[in-house]
Amino acid sequence: MPRLFGTNGVRGVVNRELTPEFVLRLSASAGHLLGREIAVGRDGRTSSDMLAKAAISGLLSVGCRVHDMGLLPTPTLQYAVKRLGLDGGIMITASHNPPEFNGVKVILGDGVEAPREVEERIEELYFRGGPPLKPWGEVGSVEGFNPIGIYIDGILSHVDLEAIRKRRFRIVLDPGNGVAALTAPELARRLGCEVYTINADIDGAFPGRGSEPRPENLGDLSRLVEAVDADLGVAFDGDGDRAIFVDERGIVHWGDRSFALVAWDYLRRHPGEAIATPVSSSKMIEEIACKAGGSVVWTRVGSIVVSRTMLERGINLGGEENGGIFYGPHQPVRDGGMTMALILDILAREGRTLSELLGELPRYVQRKERIPCPNELKQRVLEALRERVEAERIETIDGVKLWFEDGSWILIRPSGTEPIYRIYAEAETESRLNRMVEEHKRLLEELIEEAKAS
Ligand code: MG
Repeated sequence: MPRLFGTNGVRGVVNRELTPEFVLRLSASAGHLLGREIAVGRDGRTSSDMLAKAAISGLLSVGCRVHDMGLLPTPTLQYAVKRLGLDGGIMITASHNPPEFNGVKVILGDGVEAPREVEERIEELYFRGGPPLKPWGEVGSVEGFNPIGIYIDGILSHVDLEAIRKRRFRIVLDPGNGVAALTAPELARRLGCEVYTINADIDGAFPGRGSEPRPENLGDLSRLVEAVDADLGVAFDGDGDRAIFVDERGIVHWGDRSFALVAWDYLRRHPGEAIATPVSSSKMIEEIACKAGGSVVWTRVGSIVVSRTMLERGINLGGEENGGIFYGPHQPVRDGGMTMALILDILAREGRTLSELLGELPRYVQRKERIPCPNELKQRVLEALRERVEAERIETIDGVKLWFEDGSWILIRPSGTEPIYRIYAEAETESRLNRMVEEHKRLLEELIEEAKAS
């Protein structure tokens, strides 16, 4: 049976893979399995309204009562599903992907994305032609509900509101023309901040800096932070579940550094606990956890795996190197708004600047690469790779991760969404890093060529 779901829901190009007919049958299949009370939300893409209406039609055709939540960040919908005790949710979003893409995320009643087993049941029903439709008298109904207020209240309940308000932080927010524009400025104001925004009009073409925050496209945010003499800047991805921080000097810090700061603060206050993170994250996380007497549970790459691991093992904090932080006491999913509030909470309690706090973390050099590899060869290449590599310690949680004696590491893994292999590497010096990456890149390319030839 072909698969519809990738590592992060269903993604595709609009009106090519992702047509209204497709979304309608997929949503009907999901609604049939999830239950009666279903939330539907959408991001600000040009096609999201069309696809959300298809999702609603599909859900109504199988008798669901739809709570139409309109435009909102993904974590806001997830919070609402759990908080209101609904049976599930459907979010129309392609997160940080380019504007021609869109996607469908299926959320269970616990507010977390559906695990693989549920996706398989939805796929099976979809490929059988969809669920039976209800007779006319049992078709579902729709009501509107805007959960942004309860979502912001939920975040505020997890931080020291008075301490943060007293500091009167000056903050610059960059939602990147995405739906975080609906929540982040309001949240920052309620935290007593003086708020400046950039790219804060929702626009599905993402004309500002694109929908994915990257160090190279946050120049305007950096300059604005410096120009208004702000304490920090925050950039969100297209659906508001990830946040990237800029310090008061205008320097962009990648997500594993902000995660390490949150982990340091959390473990200091909850000694001995574990934190969950994918094998692609910096070893800085493990160092910080060990120092605080805590531990790290390494997972496969993908936010759903981190969330589900947290739930299964009772872990309260998770994070990804891309700026996704999962704060269990609020909800065990990535949440850009919660992440912003956690960082402000740390700044308020510490009374130091963001650059000072981040400057105390260990520093390593990192490199990432993408190597093209046809999907059908990925598995064979991976098997060959496992036989050919040598290292001090080899982990196979996801792809192959090699640890060397000097503490450097390299992870080589097939992408779950694209016909490529991804390489992630970290070392103490540039020269060591580059040597390690070049050597393994050559080996990988060689194995791909061999697989193509055989
Ligand atoms: Mg996202």
